[in-house]
Amino acid sequence: MIDPSQVLRVPLVWLLLLLRPVHAQADCQVFADQAQLEDARQSWSQTLEALPLEQRLRWIAGLHAPDEKARKEATRQKDCLVRALAKAMSVKSPLRTISSYRDHAQQRAIWERKYAFRGRAFGRITTATRKDCSDLQGDGRMAWDPLRATHRACWKRLSGEQREREILQTSAPPGLSRHHWGTDFDLFDPTLSNPPWRAGGRLAGVYRWMRTNAWRYGFFQTYAGKSAGQELGYTEERWHWSYYPVAGALQSDLANHANEFQALLRKQLSDNGHYDLVLKHWRDFAFGVESPAGDSTSM
Ligand SMILES: [Zn+2]
Repeated sequence: MIDPSQVLRVPLVWLLLLLRPVHAQADCQVFADQAQLEDARQSWSQTLEALPLEQRLRWIAGLHAPDEKARKEATRQKDCLVRALAKAMSVKSPLRTISSYRDHAQQRAIWERKYAFRGRAFGRITTATRKDCSDLQGDGRMAWDPLRATHRACWKRLSGEQREREILQTSAPPGLSRHHWGTDFDLFDPTLSNPPWRAGGRLAGVYRWMRTNAWRYGFFQTYAGKSAGQELGYTEERWHWSYYPVAGALQSDLANHANEFQALLRKQLSDNGHYDLVLKHWRDFAFGVESPAGDSTSM
């Protein structure tokens, strides 16, 4: 006589094994070289092709939620990266993720608040504006402060495009933030500024490790030297890291459908005249990014 519970026991054990939460560390993908990273990117390009073009472009512009699998993979790999870093550098304080996904509406609200010169201090006053605006002479502040009358007087005199230029020093326009993709992360330092990451700074060692090792987990510093040399485009951001297998696939998709994307962007950003400069130069922001090679000589 066969006891039915005996028959069930073995498959149940397997079922439970399958259902248990996968140990996070075991789940990390560590890339051996540039070729493996590129394979992962190509595989994501194929996955993306199965989605309707409209959905992919809206994802890139922050108007459609990121593919759930893509976002999960990027987040998991980011956690793997942070764990490896903490171990290698024996970092005691928590390595926090400051910012990750933001949708189009959130990014637009940030832009509009700054454009209207409301709320807390923001950005970095450009040298050109500091020179032009007599109200700012002798003012040592780096950031714009809507609470200061002198700053308000100066902002009022700026043209629309000048305002855009000022905001662009530290903010991406809606539709052109890589934070829409679910693949990009601002890491560790809430000031989102370079000094802590530079030589002598609190995160100098962390930065050196990241430049050499982050690619092993698929990450690269999107805004390093290249974009800083352009007239428009982002300046260096040592805190912003991007997961290449998915982000690289989205980036090449965007390059292949730049005209369709531009049409979508125009539809979204032409209503109030607050994005005229952005619409003229959007390609500088979309394509003025680094390759994932980092400093590693093995790549
Ligand atoms: Zn960022």
